[in-house]
Amino acid sequence: MKRYLQLFLLAAALLSSSAKCLAQDFDRWFSDATLRLDYTFAGTSETQAIYLDRMKTYDGWHGKRHNMNRLPLQGNGTITITDLTGTDTLYRNSFSTLFQEWQSTEEATRVAKSFESSFLIPMPKEDVQITVELTNIHNHTKSYLKHRISPSDILICKHNAKETLPYRYLKKSGDSKEKIDIVFVPEGYTESEMKQFRKDCENSMASILNHKPFDTLADKFNFIIVEAPSEHSGVSIPRQGEWKNTAVGSNFDTFYSNRYLTTSNIRKLYDILDGIPCESIIILANTDEYGGGGIYNNYMLSAARGRDNKSVIVHEFGHSFAGLADEYFYDDQYETYYPAGIEPWEQNLTTLTDFDSKWKDMLPADTPIPTIPDGKDIHTKIGVYEGGGYQSKGVYRPVQDCRMHTNKAPDFCPVCQRAITRLVNFLTDED
Ligand SMILES: [Zn+2]
Repeated sequence: MKRYLQLFLLAAALLSSSAKCLAQDFDRWFSDATLRLDYTFAGTSETQAIYLDRMKTYDGWHGKRHNMNRLPLQGNGTITITDLTGTDTLYRNSFSTLFQEWQSTEEATRVAKSFESSFLIPMPKEDVQITVELTNIHNHTKSYLKHRISPSDILICKHNAKETLPYRYLKKSGDSKEKIDIVFVPEGYTESEMKQFRKDCENSMASILNHKPFDTLADKFNFIIVEAPSEHSGVSIPRQGEWKNTAVGSNFDTFYSNRYLTTSNIRKLYDILDGIPCESIIILANTDEYGGGGIYNNYMLSAARGRDNKSVIVHEFGHSFAGLADEYFYDDQYETYYPAGIEPWEQNLTTLTDFDSKWKDMLPADTPIPTIPDGKDIHTKIGVYEGGGYQSKGVYRPVQDCRMHTNKAPDFCPVCQRAITRLVNFLTDED
């Protein structure tokens, strides 16, 4: 019996090493083309369902070509490509969604709603299986959809390259296959306001690249501007009864929160991006009204100008690009986003369930846990400070004040900086 077990283990080991080998070989499985998959996520606070909507393809794959079957961060959902037997993982990526955030709102307890979600994956050369999974705050899979894709399927819409919107590089560090492509999308800029958009993009890029560690990693990024004019100038502010026809149809007051600026029109957003190298999306809203929002591997949206605008842009980019969590909290917050006994996947928070996997190695010797804030070196002195992720109890952050905590913090804290550096190295194959 034991011998059979050994043989089985040997076979399993061989299988997994061959799986790794195959998965690393981009050209074996994928064409230099992008497959855009549009899904609908629907449900209530209790239920979830995933539906496939539309498929589209265009030339060029601008995402990762190595670490294909690995995730840098777990996210709140994953999209996985396997061969038809399900044994070889050929590609994986993770993300978070507005839908899952909405599921924790009061509204979700009384009405079912649907949300659009789109993903870009490399175009497979042969039939493969796709699995989309959504997890809950307890890290359990709450729903998933498995479906087969055939590259010869005539109903995969082919994007006409002539219809790709005009775009240009604000900063080109190198070929899009080797660099991380960040795309600026204009929201609420009319045709005649494109000059203002370009100026706002330059300021936003400078804000990001002025922050550590982006300053030293600048040559890993391309920044691209796409010109998609809106019919109306400015964005929708529902609490003021103002609704506008804009490029991605965003609005403030998301989930009835004044400053939460998001869009639910993901198809509209991806229609703008079809044919353009894109790995991370920055939507700049033509307004000086305070607000923004950022969702990991999804998009970020921010007011292009106005109060604390430079801080907000960098903070939201921390969410959307690097998957960093909010380090702020409310004393009167009763909802639990980070339950005890579950270690958050975000690198800048801990529930002390698996602190070894976080910044324990960066903690100065003899630092008490929890660390009592003393008001000294508030941006750099690493500790384990209680309060973070909207909760005043049970969740801990690395410093007293970080860019992911307040708009006044001058930089990301050392823990956030390390997380960003690791992610950039993963995406550019230097980890
Ligand atoms: Zn931080």
